[in-house]
Amino acid sequence: MIVPQSSDLEAQWAQVRSLLRAEVGDTAFSTWLKPLLALGIEGDRGLVSVPTQFMRDWVAAHYADRIRSLWNGVNTQVRSINLVVQTKGASGTIVNREQPPLRVVEPQQRPVNDTPDELSVQLDPRFTFENFVVGKPNEFAVAAAERIATSPKPPFNPLFLYGGVGLGKTHLMHAIGHRFLQIDPSKKIVFMTAEKFMYQFVRALRIKETITFKEMFRSVDLLMVDDVQFISGKDSTQEEFFHTFNTLVDRGKQIVISADRSPSDLSGLEERIRSRLGWGLVADIHPTTYELRLGILQAKAEQLQSDVPQRVLEFLAARITSNVRELEGALNRMVHQASLTNRAVSVEMAQEILHDLLRANDRRVTIEEIQRAVAEHYQMKLSDLTGPRRSRAIARPRQAAMYLCKQLTPRSLPEIGKKFGSRDHTTVMHAVRQIEKLIADDRQLADDVELLKRRLMS
Ligand code: ADP
Ligand code: MG
Repeated sequence: MIVPQSSDLEAQWAQVRSLLRAEVGDTAFSTWLKPLLALGIEGDRGLVSVPTQFMRDWVAAHYADRIRSLWNGVNTQVRSINLVVQTKGASGTIVNREQPPLRVVEPQQRPVNDTPDELSVQLDPRFTFENFVVGKPNEFAVAAAERIATSPKPPFNPLFLYGGVGLGKTHLMHAIGHRFLQIDPSKKIVFMTAEKFMYQFVRALRIKETITFKEMFRSVDLLMVDDVQFISGKDSTQEEFFHTFNTLVDRGKQIVISADRSPSDLSGLEERIRSRLGWGLVADIHPTTYELRLGILQAKAEQLQSDVPQRVLEFLAARITSNVRELEGALNRMVHQASLTNRAVSVEMAQEILHDLLRANDRRVTIEEIQRAVAEHYQMKLSDLTGPRRSRAIARPRQAAMYLCKQLTPRSLPEIGKKFGSRDHTTVMHAVRQIEKLIADDRQLADDVELLKRRLMS
């Protein structure tokens, strides 16, 4: 039985919350701890509800012990806490999820010092310079990456690599790491995704009495952070990222950053950080050309030690233009299918088993088509999409249309802005982010966007 102890419980919880807030700071508090509710006390156990499974795991790993200990300070009866996942049901009622509550009892001893090895992802032995096919679209980025990997001192700092999905950014970062260690195996490398970086950061906040985030990276010679577009938005993380960044640069350590867009398009980042990221060398990886795709396929076929006729490679290179990951996937599927069915790889086979992929690559949605579909769906005038009116009823569909253009066409932000009444690229960026954010909560909008997307792609 849960004893609710109503007002007393509320008072205790309010105290625990304010102590927590003081400890972890406003940002971490409102992200992770504000949504927690005290449900009651059961024997010596404090019951705390968490809205999602993900948050439960995070809170359990980072804050549960502090909650337990602070609550115990307020009410000595509470010696352990249970985290219970409760979601809001459709009718607004609270629903208990199936997962058993997570119990936090003992003070958890955590290692205070992370070694760089623990922070970093392992380098993938397949992702080397040797295995990277160089062509016009990526030769500049490759040259910059090789320069970084072989220079005793940073020739430019940071190296900022950017380009679309599946064009080889992560591969190149691994390759830099391999070469760097080949030349001097005693060097320390940390290679992490921006998400891991954030995770480590929030964790460092928690144990701030003994270690600062910066110090975790003190012994590192090369720091590589992949996909930094995910850092945008979280203020204190940005701040810490910036400090860490500057400290390492001052100490002559090399930094490599990747993102899916240029520094100036990282609209979620503070201006000074954005501009700082562009101080080194900015190298973009362009979409692949037919020649590069063919070269990559030839190299991969050789690696697979499989006899794929040149005609088939040419067919794939011509028809799968989206990104290298899909190209690789297509080749793998073909080779796999051939060995399963004991048939030779052929163009006919490609047409058969890659049907969907080929179709997806054939679709060419234009900005105009998107605008027409959106105007029709929301029953508004086409001219309102490109016109100056800013009322919500017009602005929201306009943002959705911009979002769809970014998603479904290869057009750049400035190009999209131009087609929407010469709006600035930052307006388009804002629209994209806004819609991304809204569809997480707004079912109606999410459905509209999904429906439009399907209609346009069919
Ligand atoms: P990104 O990080 O830019 O999304 P990845 O580095 O993950 O892309 O690359 C996707 C896949 O395509 C990987 O398997 C990578 O090895 C391969 N790839 C991309 N570009 C090339 C290239 N030029 N030569 C060989 N493989 C490539
Ligand atoms: Mg990547």
